[in-house]
Amino acid sequence: MIAPAPSNTLMEDIVGLCKRRGFIFQSSEIYGGYNGFYDYGPLGVELRNNIKQAWWRDFVQCRDDIEGLDSTIIMHPKIWKASGHVDGFSDPMVDCKESKLRYRADQLFFAPVSVDGETIGYVSVVECIDQQEVAEKAAAEMKRKMAKQGELDTIELKEYTEAKPEQYELIPSPATGKPGSLTEPREFKLMFETKVGSLADDAATAYLRPETAQGIFANYKNIVDTGRVKIPFGIAQIGKAFRNEITPRNFIFRSREFEQMEIEYFISPNADWKTLHREWINTCTDWLVSIGLPREGISEDIHPGDKLAFYSQATTDLMFQFPHGEQELWGIACRSDYDLKQHQEHSGKSMTIFDETTKEKYVPHVIEPSLGVDRTLLAVLSAAYTEDEVPNDKGKVEKRILLKFSPKIAPVKAAIFPLLKNKPELVEVAKRLHKKLQRRWNVFYDASGAIGRRYRRQDEIGTPFGITIDFDTIEKDSTVTLRDRDTCEQRRVTEDELIKFLEEQIDG
Ligand code: ATP
Repeated sequence: MIAPAPSNTLMEDIVGLCKRRGFIFQSSEIYGGYNGFYDYGPLGVELRNNIKQAWWRDFVQCRDDIEGLDSTIIMHPKIWKASGHVDGFSDPMVDCKESKLRYRADQLFFAPVSVDGETIGYVSVVECIDQQEVAEKAAAEMKRKMAKQGELDTIELKEYTEAKPEQYELIPSPATGKPGSLTEPREFKLMFETKVGSLADDAATAYLRPETAQGIFANYKNIVDTGRVKIPFGIAQIGKAFRNEITPRNFIFRSREFEQMEIEYFISPNADWKTLHREWINTCTDWLVSIGLPREGISEDIHPGDKLAFYSQATTDLMFQFPHGEQELWGIACRSDYDLKQHQEHSGKSMTIFDETTKEKYVPHVIEPSLGVDRTLLAVLSAAYTEDEVPNDKGKVEKRILLKFSPKIAPVKAAIFPLLKNKPELVEVAKRLHKKLQRRWNVFYDASGAIGRRYRRQDEIGTPFGITIDFDTIEKDSTVTLRDRDTCEQRRVTEDELIKFLEEQIDG
């Protein structure tokens, strides 16, 4: 028996708003869409750029120990052989022979249903926020349909990867609800292949990078040799990565083309890596809070020793409470000297560095904080999405949708409104102020419609400040009305005060 998909209205609301207001569109929509690919519209691209710029400023420009890099997406295929991706970068996949649908075996859960110790069948459920509850409901339904008397035993969900061969035939397919059509799990390679050059033989096979990190390792020697760095130091990169995910889902959370912001932070093999790892976890958490994520929505998932790759000393994921559940946002791994040693062996080039402080020569170890741009953007959208009630122009209370973005990353920083569009003296002052602010920030000019409606349109796209030019501006004291998106409070400020305030809020 297959459990129904959970209702997830927050995700639906976010997806709807993103399409309606031009943040994110399904790729190739005019051809029916393309699963696992998304396009960013006018507001989405601003938000995305602001997130990347904040990260770059805080982790590269404001630090003396981290350098930037921009390496190619397609690199020599030997890089992926050395890194282990060609042989090992895969996910366990299970097919439904009847529906031809595919699932990730570690995201498909099953449990035997038993009544007073007697197994009467199996339930399966695709990973979701309330999977335990939906599996229990499905089990109760099975018991009812089979008219079994007695007590249902506790439902203990397990990953399909843990199923025994004799259970494959008994576990229902999520697609059909019937047992007998699921295959045993097989490894599915996640790297996209392409051909480089005019010959289409095997030697021409290349890969779209599945992570930006290997471009950093491949350039480590270049950066060390240019002589600007000394241990400990980091190399940072922002760029596209591609994974042929078996089941892309949850909007932009898991897609096939996405962007990463990664740092490889090189340390001495004798350094106190545990303390440095802890410092990185704290720094990364604080950064997420600085762009507007609630600290209480972030938690840490420490990978247990038996789940770590053999070369990894420790990995902690920063988890975020997404609309579809608590999931990985930022992976912070201590990867020892594995990658550099692999490249040293495969390329024959030395990856050692001379440590000026200790006068030793060694291949450094590395701490890798790896963050997805798209997942950060989804986290920011989920944290910002709010519905409340405010009075309209006529004093009637109405429902309002707003995005409470931090001014630092909001796509539009302020909107400038002349109170009336048919009063040239108001329009002239508003346009002049708009032109002035536009040179520094992404601001928006809007003269059409009732002022309350104009505020509401900006609230919905997360513009933190509304600036209205009214008759007091031109007749009395040159002050403008500054409105706060979240509280709707308004106050009068001079142009100098306005600019100082915006500087503090946006750039501060
Ligand atoms: P998951 O377990 O969710 O597949 P992962 O552990 O494979 O993620 P990493 O290889 O550690 O992910 O990648 C680092 C970061 O890149 C992740 O924390 C995430 O933010 C982002 N990321 C990875 N895969 C995807 C994807 N398919 N779509 C969007 N972002 C991704």
